[in-house]
Parts: sequence; structure tokens; C-alpha cells
Amino acid sequence: MKSTLILAAALAFTAQAQAQTAPAPRAAADQIATKKGPLTVQPITHGSVVFTWSGKNIYVDPYGGAAAYAGLAAPDVILITDIHGDHLDPKTLAGLSVGKALMIVPQAVADKLPAEYKAQVRVLGNGQKLDTLGMSVAAIPMYNLPEAPDAPHTKGRGNGYVLNLGGKNVYLSGDTEDIAEMRALKDIDVAFVCMNLPYTMDVQQAAQGVLAFKPGMVYPYHYRGQNGLSDVESFKKTVNQANKKIDVRLRNWYPAAQ
Ligand code: ZN
Repeated sequence: MKSTLILAAALAFTAQAQAQTAPAPRAAADQIATKKGPLTVQPITHGSVVFTWSGKNIYVDPYGGAAAYAGLAAPDVILITDIHGDHLDPKTLAGLSVGKALMIVPQAVADKLPAEYKAQVRVLGNGQKLDTLGMSVAAIPMYNLPEAPDAPHTKGRGNGYVLNLGGKNVYLSGDTEDIAEMRALKDIDVAFVCMNLPYTMDVQQAAQGVLAFKPGMVYPYHYRGQNGLSDVESFKKTVNQANKKIDVRLRNWYPAAQ
């Protein structure tokens, strides 16, 4: 009797604790088959996604507060694309258990990262590639068109990434327009492509870029701009009117906004 009461009290306490630390709402995760088991794709918010693959957790551009990552395993790898606050977010990093993570970043990000992370940073520049933890990570350019010294994203500063995870090629655009380097991509299985004005490109331009490199599937992400959310339905329509084979995956990347 007494132990039952203690158990009931413990359960009530646990339920209360869970209610207090309930994670931020998140879009459901997807699973994509690879040669080394499933790749779990967990949209977080804006340009941030968490991959779990082969026992490793990869955080992309952690941003928007650590609460959005509650309940997810600590990162083994953190990829950061650029210096802006929606990609390099020291406050979010400080709230996460990043101690064991390798941080793969461009030089401009390394220069701005808090000093406490210096020992775990690996700088990758456009065109460079790194094999680590059974995966490969290639950095590719991301920039605005036409190229201009005062553009929000100048060529060479930030990185888009192409990961190879168990034979599947995963492209993360970072903040870019439909640059030649994107259009020339080959054999991309899963693409994450930005579309927001005035920082990157509009949905029609993003659709034309995606139609050029024909990924197996594409997730529009990073689509909150100065005038609210971009029309990702119209992106999907344009892509699929020209190419039905591309699986356009619309997910809610702004769950906290609802
Ligand atoms: Zn951005």
C-alpha cells in the first residue's frame, strides 16, 4: 500500500516535471532509408534540422533557443553555414550539450564563435571535403546574385553542404540564390533549399534551381522573409508541374509561430 502511494506520487511528480519541460512543438520526423540504416530528418525551425543516422546526431545551424531541441540526443556533429544570427546562434549553442560535438564551419564562422569552442572546430572552406564518423561532408558555395561586395551573402564566406550518409547525398543550401554550383549538383537524394526575400531568393527562382539539379526529394526550408512566410505550396506546384518525380516535402518549419 505504502509503496503504491510512493509510486503514484513519483508518477505524478514525473508527469508534472514533463509538463514543465515539454519540448517546443515540432514537425514530425521523417525516415529515409540508407545503406547504413535509416536517416531520421527532424525539422526544427527556419534553417535548422537535426539528422540522426548510424547512431550519430548531426545538428544543422542550431538556432531559436535550446528548448526547440529538448528531448533530442546531444550532437556529435554541428554544421554551421554562415555568420548571421539565424545560423550562428551562440545563445542556442550555450543551451545545448555540445561538448562532444565536432563543429564544422567556414572560417568566417570560426572567427566569430565563442573561444570556448575553439578546440572542437574544424574549418571547411568552399570546395573542401571532410570524412568523419563514417560520413562525408563537402562544403560548397552559397551566395547572392548578382555578386556584389555589399550583398547579404558574398561568395566564399558561407558554406552550403553536401553530406554523404550511407550512400545518400543530402544537400543543405544555406543562404543562397540558384547559383551555378547548385544547378550543377548531381545525384542529390535529399535537398534542403532556402527561399525567402530579401535574403535569398523567391519561390519561383528556387523552383527553377531545383528543376536544374533534380533531387529525389526536396524540403523547402528557411522560408520566413521580411513579408512573412514564402508560398511553399506554389514552389511545390511549379516544381511538380515541370517534373512529377521530385518529391516536394512541405513541413512546418515554424511551429512556434502557431
Ligand atoms: Zn539565414
